[in-house]
Amino acid sequence: MVLAELGGQIASALQKMSNVTIIDEKALNECLKEITRALLHSDVSFPLVREMQSNIKKIVNLEELAAGHNKRRIIEQAIFSELCKMLDPGKPAFSPKKAKPSVVMFVGLQGAGKTTTCTKYAYYHQKKGYKPALVCADTFRAGAFDQLKQNATKARIPFYGSYTESDPVKIAVEGVDTFKKENCDLIIVDTSGRHKQEATLFEEMRQVAEATKPDLVIFVMDSSIGQAAFDQAQAFKQSVAVGAVIITKMDGHAKGGGALSAVAATKSPVIFIGTGEHMDEFEVFDVKPFVSRLLGMGDWSGFVDKLQDVVPKDQQPELLEKLSQGNFTLRIMYDQFQNLLNMGPLSEVFSMLPGAAAQMMPKGHEKESQAKIKRYMTMMDSMTNEELDSSNPKMFNESRMMRIARGSGRMVREVMEMLEEYKRLAKMWSKMKGLKIPKNGDMSAL
Ligand code: GDP
Repeated sequence: MVLAELGGQIASALQKMSNVTIIDEKALNECLKEITRALLHSDVSFPLVREMQSNIKKIVNLEELAAGHNKRRIIEQAIFSELCKMLDPGKPAFSPKKAKPSVVMFVGLQGAGKTTTCTKYAYYHQKKGYKPALVCADTFRAGAFDQLKQNATKARIPFYGSYTESDPVKIAVEGVDTFKKENCDLIIVDTSGRHKQEATLFEEMRQVAEATKPDLVIFVMDSSIGQAAFDQAQAFKQSVAVGAVIITKMDGHAKGGGALSAVAATKSPVIFIGTGEHMDEFEVFDVKPFVSRLLGMGDWSGFVDKLQDVVPKDQQPELLEKLSQGNFTLRIMYDQFQNLLNMGPLSEVFSMLPGAAAQMMPKGHEKESQAKIKRYMTMMDSMTNEELDSSNPKMFNESRMMRIARGSGRMVREVMEMLEEYKRLAKMWSKMKGLKIPKNGDMSAL
């Protein structure tokens, strides 16, 4: 996932600081230096990083903090809120209303994922009960109309375009008029891109915007764009009134910080992220849970929501209570595996958990992971009650392991592997000890 490395580095800088006994100016500077390096390495623009650094120093005034203040927590919160600030312009994007026609225009460079994202956006809203329609005003790229047509047909969304007309403004106007007459409430106009920023592209964009009067202009940006992102975003913003951003290809391994800085340049919120080529690989973007996840703090809102979806209601308080006590027994692991098997796309759930758990369920390997979990559960079925209720893996001596392996038809090596997994999860679980889980994923509420 994009930015995974950045998140890891920031989390490790914070961890290092929490290992020192006294947090003084030197420890804070050391930590900030590491975080700055990580942000720059991920392509976040230099002026933004500098600003963030000086803001954090202003918030964390070590001299003024009276003894007894949890300095580490204050520093952590300052970093959290600065990252949120970078991604949150503080004003929400226009959101289309059902049964009232809205025009949404997509802009971006060629290859950014504009056409794919238009369909994802339409499909997302169609599932929510809107009546979307797609207009292909991209007359620059040969094959653009065919691509949009193919995507739209797959998602059963009405579309408009032309193989012969070369004036994008004319197509856009005709398409919007046609769908307004058909009572569509979300008319999406896909415009041309270019390989690089060119005056002709911006002029065309301006003309299409002028003729169709969009309620919202969405700027689509590839997450791998790097340092050039800030300038690119600014150039688009200066030509049309960009009101929202969608960052694509967040499933890749790019550094991603450039795209994040670009958000600051447009002063518009990111509303969705693209996480794959398929129609439903598209997620609503929420700043706080995103930053929480980035810093390895976990997306509590997403996690708790998911838990509430599948854990029977009467078991929820008990589970959250156990979570906050940090006492992780093999039985809890068993119950959670059971829940996870019911929870649907496992990687999605795991990616919401803090830290290490995400690695257990790599995307694209859900089947194998599911089989592994079932295998582990079969082995746990051969344990005694006392063993299941214990949180001490040392109680499994060689003969017990052999007995469990025989009872479940598995190898001793696999029993050992399962216990290793248990230790890893228990370690992670113990980090949640004493944690109050906020309802909305807002870490500043902790
Ligand atoms: P356009 O030129 O901006 O209209 O870009 P396209 O929609 O044609 O997309 C360019 C390429 O990026 C295509 O191969 C898409 O399948 C791919 N793509 C778009 N969004 C994503 C995404 O979120 N993740 C991945 N992995 N690929 C994407």
